[in-house]
Amino acid sequence: MIRTRFAPSPTGYLHLGGARTALYSWLYARKQHGEFILRIEDTDAKRSSPKYLNSIIESLEWLGINWDGEVYFQSKRIEIYKEYAKKLISSGRAYYCFCPAKGEERKEEKELENCSCINLPSSKTKELENSNIPKVIRFKVPKESVKLYDLVREEITFQSDTISDFVILKSDGIATYNFAVVIDDALMKITHIIRGDDHISNTPRQLMLYKALDFKIPKYVHLSMILGSDRKRLSKRHGATSVTYFKENGYLPQALINYLSLLGWSTSDSQQILSKEDLLNKFSLKGISKNPAIFDYDKMLWMNGQYIRKMGIKELTNRFIDYLKKEKIYLSSKDKWYQEIAALHQSRIRTIRELLPQTSYLLNKDIEIEEDAANSYLNSKKTIEILKEVREFIALASDFSSNNLEEVLRNLIAKLKIEAKEIIHPLRVALTGTTASPGIFEVIHLLGKEKVLRRIDKVIQRSE
Ligand code: GLU
Repeated sequence: MIRTRFAPSPTGYLHLGGARTALYSWLYARKQHGEFILRIEDTDAKRSSPKYLNSIIESLEWLGINWDGEVYFQSKRIEIYKEYAKKLISSGRAYYCFCPAKGEERKEEKELENCSCINLPSSKTKELENSNIPKVIRFKVPKESVKLYDLVREEITFQSDTISDFVILKSDGIATYNFAVVIDDALMKITHIIRGDDHISNTPRQLMLYKALDFKIPKYVHLSMILGSDRKRLSKRHGATSVTYFKENGYLPQALINYLSLLGWSTSDSQQILSKEDLLNKFSLKGISKNPAIFDYDKMLWMNGQYIRKMGIKELTNRFIDYLKKEKIYLSSKDKWYQEIAALHQSRIRTIRELLPQTSYLLNKDIEIEEDAANSYLNSKKTIEILKEVREFIALASDFSSNNLEEVLRNLIAKLKIEAKEIIHPLRVALTGTTASPGIFEVIHLLGKEKVLRRIDKVIQRSE
């Protein structure tokens, strides 16, 4: 049975790269009817925080990346790692090191030419072990090269002479990343490790541990980094990098899933819009590229827009209302109105959040008219005369449906023997403040008589 895992450290928000790793691991397991587990690598107590843990879990849930069984925490497995470290000592594959070191880090990195702990007679080791002298456990790196067979890359050979005897258990009794990850992946029966290629350099150490512990070596897939537009590793300099940002700014989880899926993977026919079902049908390790992918914020926006167009109007309205509530401008008696507004603007927005600025001419009592728009469309005497007529016609309309409003205004156009645009353009500017808006009859209908008359009056007064 295929078993994959996502193993984030709760030291930051879920990064887009992490989300993609989780997605690929999840897709691969789900596609093969295998299992996907979530393991929190929180042995670094100083850097880990519950705030980040919660946000990672929330982000995964929002994306719909669900895991099997309980969430594992490395901090609860400390005794297990100790037991295996001791096993390695018993089998002569690891040893206690008592070399003094200032900081824990230095001890880990310590050049070993001047460490001779490995040669201490066992009686001396026993004595020091029982003393208060801080000690770490080092793995004895075998003098043989190791090969990494990555499923999407060339085979890589690592020479062991570049790797010194590394620490597996620190002086505070906590396992190092390379050790804990091997024990956990083996005990949790992980068959495929899918992770970022920043971990390639850790892999030889991990492979040595697998061998020393006689564990079955899993298959590896190292994913290329996600880059920004300048081909440097994606970071805050390029824009938002956390899933939380996208969640809070009107993106849809499925759009983000779709876009992330294509950062380093493609279908044979380069399909761009892929539902979760499509992904579950089509995902394969073969489609993973060795080349780094570039996160294109505009394309992400475009893709989100595609998903918004496909969204049911009820759902769109609910999300719109959530934003109105956040901005404290929601009026509970107006749900139907909000729904009409959302429907009218659905094809004009790329994120739900964009609905707010795009519909402010409807939501706000008054508007500012853009100067250019006023100069182009509201400056002639004739226009003002026409607007006065429009005002009278609209004031008399009792049926304020967009269909009826259209009929009313078409009658006026016929009566005045003018072109439709001589009414529509100035009216649009007077009512919305800009030269671009959805259909003018819908706009009049949604504004309602009071706002429409007030805005026309303002334009007429301005000209006097
Ligand atoms: N905790 C590691 C990280 O967040 C996981 C590495 C791995 O997948 O082996 O990078």
